[in-house]
Amino acid sequence: MMKKVLITGVTGQDGAFLAKQLVEDGVEVYGAVRRGSTPKTGRLRELNILDKVNFIGLELTEFANVLKVVADLRPDAIYNLAAQSFVADSFQHPHLTTSINYLGVLNILESVKTAGIDCNIYQASTSEMYGDVLEDPQSEKTPFNPMSPYAVAKAAAHHLVVNYRVAYGMNASNGILFNHESELRGREFVTRKISSQIAELAVGGNSAIQLGNLDSVRDWGYAPEYVAGMRLINESSVADDFVIATNQVKTVRDFLSYAAVVAGFDPIFEGQGINEKCLCRKSNRVIAEVNKRFFRPSDVAYLRGDYTKINEVLGWSPETSVEKMVEIMVNADLNRLKARSGSWDV
Ligand code: NDP
Ligand code: GDP
Repeated sequence: MMKKVLITGVTGQDGAFLAKQLVEDGVEVYGAVRRGSTPKTGRLRELNILDKVNFIGLELTEFANVLKVVADLRPDAIYNLAAQSFVADSFQHPHLTTSINYLGVLNILESVKTAGIDCNIYQASTSEMYGDVLEDPQSEKTPFNPMSPYAVAKAAAHHLVVNYRVAYGMNASNGILFNHESELRGREFVTRKISSQIAELAVGGNSAIQLGNLDSVRDWGYAPEYVAGMRLINESSVADDFVIATNQVKTVRDFLSYAAVVAGFDPIFEGQGINEKCLCRKSNRVIAEVNKRFFRPSDVAYLRGDYTKINEVLGWSPETSVEKMVEIMVNADLNRLKARSGSWDV
């Protein structure tokens, strides 16, 4: 049993759900946070665990800082969830993305090795590494073909984790997680962008949602279940790499359509390509339209994960369907808007 756990990225979607699950199991949770003028504690507050997490200042890109934190704390396990996690942003900030998403991982691995402690490491790998996919569905054996600076940095980090495991016998694992969403997902990601903005429209807003590639296909799962999978991986005595996915796919258009129905609209799509729009059949108002600003220099068109390995070895399987998840997300955003006026905390 892990007694003391360090989570980097504790203020993010997965970090918050993970901290909650660990706290509920009696684990001492240390949350690494980067310096900022205002800490982003909205998710931990919403989950009622803000006072249960021990915060530690950590700048992942500073080796001396990471080493000191790891050597002083001597955690039983580290979950390295901190990242510049938004693919679109990585085209604007490739250096920053590479420092955090690759060098940050090197700093964690080197720190555990240098401190000489017995500490399991979980690295947040990603289906984005499959990029322009070379096999369908994608499993642990599928070659990577990354399509963004984000995915290139994550692929390099993935290989580094494997190398430290092989070279130094460290208990370091990669979870190759396909897209996972929730009511706590960042609002720049397409699912939460849709759920939050459709809720705004439903309570009287009038700005149509501006979206990019509606044909993009994703394998979307529900984040709390994926976080439970991360724990199975990192609590195992044998380190290894595992895909976590649902093996079900939907387009961005499908997601938008479900969300519109949950919010009380009757969606129809008109027009092609850049001129495509989603309208409400009842009121004829425009719900969403395609805007070329949200297209990426190179995009990942299709992802579908094969979770056979984690199912067979660790007994994990997905439960929540994408339709159910859309309902949870849209209803959570509608409730937030009804409960308060003004800005979003989460
Ligand atoms: P979020 O974007 O919600 O959270 C990212 C976290 O990283 C935040 O806590 C953020 O802190 C922190 N962070 C960013 N930069 C730094 C830095 N320089 N130093 C320290 N901390 C930093 O991501 P998710 O929770 O959705 O994802 C967790 C991990 O899983 C990420 O590594 C992501 O790339 C990966 N992943 C996510 C998938 C998904 O579908 N959600 C799929 C596959 C992989 P702050 O609050 O200060 O911004
Ligand atoms: P990603 O898979 O980690 O990049 O997660 P996102 O939620 O950011 O994007 C999923 C897919 O939705 C990508 O193929 C995007 O190009 C596509 N997409 C279409 N419109 C949008 C949009 O307005 N915002 C975002 N974030 N993605 C969009």
